[in-house]
Amino acid sequence: LSERTANFSDSVIRRMTRISNQYDAINLSQGFPDFNPPKEITDRLANIAGEGPHQYALTWGAENFRYALAKKQEQFSGMKINPDTEIVVTCGSTEAMMAAMMTVTNPGDKVIIFSPFYENYGADVILSGAEPIYVPLKPPAFSFDANELEDAFKKGVKALILCNPSNPCGKVFTYDELKIIADLAIKYDTYVITDEVYEHIIYEPNQHIYMATLPGMRERTIICSSLSKTYSITGWRLGYVIASPFVIERVKKVHDFLTVGAAAPLMEAAVVGLNFGEEYYKELQKHYTQKKDLFIGGLSDLKLNFTDPQGAYYVLVDVSEFNVKDDVRFCEWLAREVGVGAVPGSSFFKEEVNHLIRLHFAKKDETLIGALDRLTDLR
Ligand code: GLN
Repeated sequence: LSERTANFSDSVIRRMTRISNQYDAINLSQGFPDFNPPKEITDRLANIAGEGPHQYALTWGAENFRYALAKKQEQFSGMKINPDTEIVVTCGSTEAMMAAMMTVTNPGDKVIIFSPFYENYGADVILSGAEPIYVPLKPPAFSFDANELEDAFKKGVKALILCNPSNPCGKVFTYDELKIIADLAIKYDTYVITDEVYEHIIYEPNQHIYMATLPGMRERTIICSSLSKTYSITGWRLGYVIASPFVIERVKKVHDFLTVGAAAPLMEAAVVGLNFGEEYYKELQKHYTQKKDLFIGGLSDLKLNFTDPQGAYYVLVDVSEFNVKDDVRFCEWLAREVGVGAVPGSSFFKEEVNHLIRLHFAKKDETLIGALDRLTDLR
């Protein structure tokens, strides 16, 4: 079999969901909600079941979806986007990232990844034949050292992957940080591939700034994002790439042969969400702020140390006090004996890390309270 498939493991995040299910644990590992999407969207889907569409949409996405997405993106970023030449709708941002990486890199090209990172990036880089260069984000603020970053750029890189807000550490990059990255990307003629799936899950006073809006970055930013987290539809697998026509022309080809297209009935129903007014996003922010406060309040009561996220819906909990030697085995034990599913921190870090686990709080209050109750067993 191929060497490239030998060089990475399956996703630990998704493995932890299987393990959680096996032990009937409350699954706070893989990040997805246990509450329903907005009713307007599911009602529309029910109608579509009768009316269609049930056949292929255009390979790069249904026209009404792309037009609604361009409008929404302009509303939040101020960017003018041509829905015909600057958007490809993909099967989740997972495909978007893979397609972006295959579009940009040749085998042997180097790609910068900040560590900790969402585990797909490592596999994406390997699958496209590229080589990752990791630059640490240093706790507690998860900030990077500009000189260290420039040293990585000096190695001759094709792209940098920017997850903002960041999974798993919840960092929201400031304008100044983005500017440092942007200036280096321009200086070293590099693409920035963003993963902005948590763009609408931000805690005050932090604000999401789109890398593509920085001076000189529109042409060299490849935005990857999805509807999964914004509309609580992770199983619908609706993501997208937004980039310049020059890039999108190639992404269209990659996407065409990878998957042909995203699910037509789901795109049609999701247009309802893309057309929501500003109020929806304000409510979403409130909804997750309340969940964050509930969950980290509970972790504090348990006297656990954890990261307080600026965005996204994850916390990294420090479990070093439990003498953890192997965080993977600790998470298996946690699922089996305590009944809570978590992701071992080592799956996100390039550095040797054994003392962190990742929990998420995109769950009903009663689920979070149940999980916190089980975690008291740790005490
Ligand atoms: N982003 C989610 C997480 O980090 C999971 C996404 C996925 O499994 N496709 O848990």
